[in-house]
Amino acid sequence: MFKMGLGYDIHPLVEGRRFILGGVEVPFPKGPAGHSDGDALVHAIIDSLLGALGEGDIGRLYPDTDPRFKDVPSLDLLRDVMARLRKAGGRIVNLDTVIVAEEPKMAPHSEEMKASLGPLLGLEEKSLNIKAKTNEELGPVGEGRAVACWAVALVEF
Ligand code: MG
Repeated sequence: MFKMGLGYDIHPLVEGRRFILGGVEVPFPKGPAGHSDGDALVHAIIDSLLGALGEGDIGRLYPDTDPRFKDVPSLDLLRDVMARLRKAGGRIVNLDTVIVAEEPKMAPHSEEMKASLGPLLGLEEKSLNIKAKTNEELGPVGEGRAVACWAVALVEF
C-alpha cells in the first residue's frame, strides 16, 4: 500500500539566530525564530511523513510548550519520526520539497542538505529533491521576514 503526506512550515527570520535549514547551517545574519532550532525544511518533512503515517502533526508530537523540545536539533525529531515510520513498516519511496526564501540563495546549499538528510531518510540522490525559489518579493516571505517550506512524501507500507 502507498500513502502520501503533505507538510508545510514557516518561521519568522530574526537577528541573532543561526540559520539552520535541512540540517545545514546557512551563513546569514538572521535565522528562524522558534522553540527548536527552527529548521522549517525538516519540520515540513516531518509533517509530510506524519501525514503519510496518519499520526497528526509535529505540534502534537513535540509541543513547543514542552521544555524537552527547547532548542532541540530538528534532525533529532526527524530521527524519532523515522523510527515511528519503520515501526509501522513504512519506507519512503520519494520526497519532494520546496524552500521559499527571498535571501540568502538556497540552491547552492541544496546538495549539502541532501547529503545531510538522505542517509537519515534512507533515500538515494534521485529520491530526495530540494527545490529553492523566492517569493517574488511578495508578502512576508518575499520581504525577507520569513522562510517557508513545503514537502510531499510517498511512503510504501
Ligand atoms: Mg516549525
